[in-house]
Amino acid sequence: MKKVLFTQKSDFPHWVGDGFPVRTIFSYNDIAREISPFLLMDYAGPTVFPPSEHRKGVGSHPHRGFETVTLVYDGQVEHRDSAGGGGVIQAGDVQWMTAASGLVHEEKHGKEFAKKGGGFEMVQLWVNLPKKDKMSKPRYQALKYEQTPTVQLPKQAGTLRVIAGEYQKALGPAKTFTTINMWDVRLNKDAQVKLDVPSGHTTLVFVLSGEVKVADSHTLNDAEMAILEKEGNTFSLTANTDAKILFLGGEPINEPVFGYGPFVMNTQAEIMQAFKDFEDGKMGVIDSIEGSEK
Ligand code: MN
Repeated sequence: MKKVLFTQKSDFPHWVGDGFPVRTIFSYNDIAREISPFLLMDYAGPTVFPPSEHRKGVGSHPHRGFETVTLVYDGQVEHRDSAGGGGVIQAGDVQWMTAASGLVHEEKHGKEFAKKGGGFEMVQLWVNLPKKDKMSKPRYQALKYEQTPTVQLPKQAGTLRVIAGEYQKALGPAKTFTTINMWDVRLNKDAQVKLDVPSGHTTLVFVLSGEVKVADSHTLNDAEMAILEKEGNTFSLTANTDAKILFLGGEPINEPVFGYGPFVMNTQAEIMQAFKDFEDGKMGVIDSIEGSEK
């Protein structure tokens, strides 16, 4: 049985652009070893945006060396990148963008959402790539809700939707570079489940909403995360209320992590090179989503 090592939360929201009021739940700056292959997690909202003529979000900026994975729980997000990827995702959809050797992208509220306003809730993860794949070609996967299989948990405990990896033979649609399990778990009040996961893997439980006891020891509330030990191949969750949970698991990448701003590589020299390549236009350029509508 896995035990909880420690828990994390953020009491200090900040804005990413003018569209994403986020709390950074974890970052490789503090706990790289415990969270690998994940690098960073921002939790945006839950909040309500009023209708707006202007498309809020974050303008053109580069990335290199990892993937950005965006899960929309409420609202609508539009993406466009210099490698030709792009699209609109909404509640239940996931965008899995591999920046790898580098691209420039823009992340905005969807046109319809901006116009109408409404509830907004989103998670963005940065997922690391092994050294050998950091300079591979960018890739874009739009994973629609309908593509992700949902497993019914025993005794009507709730559901587990597989975005990446697998659970009891249900396979998630995301193509990944290392072994990753990403599950959208919904538990009913008073449900108790034991989830089986590979031993040796990073094991993170994030409670978006509800009250959940993890591994019979730590009770989490809204926007709190438990970091479990890697050893052991099962752990328990007990829901004191209906709960919305994001499970993140994966094989750790045991390589040096050196990051600065939008780039995460293995060495400082590679970061300097990333800035130079970006300034030289090697990561491409894009027209702004809003500008190109006029
Ligand atoms: Mn970005």
